[in-house]
Amino acid sequence: MLLGYVYKLRPSDEQAVKIDNWLDMLRSSYNWCLNDRIEQYNQQYVCGDYCDLRTKSEACALTCFVSKNGASGEPWKLDNSELEIQGECCLLPYNLNNLPYSGKTPRRSAGGIQITQLPILKISRPWYKDLDSTVLQQNIKRLDTAYKNFFEGKGFPNFKNRSNFRSFTYASGIRVDKNKIYLPKLGWMRFYNSRPIPDGFKIKSVTVRKKADGHYVSIRIEDNSVPDYIPLPIERINTAVGCDVGIKKLVSLSDGSQIKNPRFSRNKKMRRRLKIRQRSLARKKKRSKNRKKASNVVGRLHQKISNQRTAYQWKVAHKVTSKADLVVFEDLKVSNMKKRCKPKLDEATGKYLNNGQSRKVGLNRSISDAAWYELRLKTEYVAGKLGKRFEVVPPHHTSLECPECHHVDSPNRDEEKFLCSVCGYAADADNNAARNIKQRCLDKFNIKLTLKPHIKKDKSVRRDLPEPEQLTLGLILLETPTCQSTQGKRRYVSARNSKRSQPGNLSKQLSLFEDIKDA
Ligand SMILES: [Zn+2]
Repeated sequence: MLLGYVYKLRPSDEQAVKIDNWLDMLRSSYNWCLNDRIEQYNQQYVCGDYCDLRTKSEACALTCFVSKNGASGEPWKLDNSELEIQGECCLLPYNLNNLPYSGKTPRRSAGGIQITQLPILKISRPWYKDLDSTVLQQNIKRLDTAYKNFFEGKGFPNFKNRSNFRSFTYASGIRVDKNKIYLPKLGWMRFYNSRPIPDGFKIKSVTVRKKADGHYVSIRIEDNSVPDYIPLPIERINTAVGCDVGIKKLVSLSDGSQIKNPRFSRNKKMRRRLKIRQRSLARKKKRSKNRKKASNVVGRLHQKISNQRTAYQWKVAHKVTSKADLVVFEDLKVSNMKKRCKPKLDEATGKYLNNGQSRKVGLNRSISDAAWYELRLKTEYVAGKLGKRFEVVPPHHTSLECPECHHVDSPNRDEEKFLCSVCGYAADADNNAARNIKQRCLDKFNIKLTLKPHIKKDKSVRRDLPEPEQLTLGLILLETPTCQSTQGKRRYVSARNSKRSQPGNLSKQLSLFEDIKDA
């Protein structure tokens, strides 16, 4: 099992400065490598075969950095013995034609090549020797991941600046002792040991991250002997709960309950606070120390909001998961929901009309604030941890469908109310959607629920019910104290305890105008 534990670090001043320096160096290395790959690709794209000016080697489609297995310089992996023979020649370009390619040695990946060039970097820029070697390697692997994501359809890797490059990763050499952690080349560093690492788990990698309110370390720990969380098999599911996420109510459940949305960054108080702090930042002179301080204040507020949201979502995830064996969410495409409105063109005048985008900006911010996908991930994790099952279903028309007659029609829903236009079934629209979500999952896996989900019942006795028999019997048989007698008893006790009964105290309350002597 692979787990991630996060702790807050307490670096000394020296260590904090060192981390800042490291981040600067790593960022420049990252940007250089990214530019290197882009250039290689562009040159090949423009002229086909070309001579790479930097390494003076021929590059072609085979040697392109961007292609997954591309290479320039040394495209094949070499044995250690070969490397020794090459010696310093390793720095020189390799001639493609002279390479003995037997088909056995695997070709290097772009990242692999850039990693082998790190020793050269350390010779030309000796200050890079201060960095731990695994940190430098992991930094290039990070670029590999960015490219991998790009090939899978996500965006092209960005050049990093100070604000979006704030972490580095160690692959080995980490030791933890009570509330101290050893980070190679940074030394022993104290941290807040908020929870112990479970026995038997080994440290896989460690990421040091700089945030607005300090430094954090996230430790990936693994124990192969502990099995991963196994979801509950379908046959053993007894209860199910459907969840519909929204903005007014964060989660509406199929059992009729709702969980409110505190809108951490969008509520009135926080918006005002953010506005004041951001305005203060905007009015500071650029590149001044005061601006830096103000930006730190804004950053810390954002950090606080994010912390609050995370804590709340964990609570919600636990609450939802505790309700049933099977938790069903809808598979929302949040990024599609946040897309811009299409521009509206007035054909007569050629001007653009109002397409509602300015109104949608606020909605988009609220969607981002609710962080539905984060909640879904947390619920999935908690469900796995508690030995329950988590499923998602397609979200189409969940809030428009009637759960009784399955009639789908847009007039069925009127904001928060749901009223079926065919059979007249009425319910809360969000809870109704949750019910549909649950039903879709039950249909999908053909689950027959044996137990009904626990629904809170009103405990008060209805007026029209006959009086219970035992009570009336008791009234006749036993001599119960009558109303009058209890009242008299109470009066006696209170009189005994009152201060008026004590000597010297008056039995009558004085009015303001009465004289004591008269009384
Ligand atoms: Zn209906």
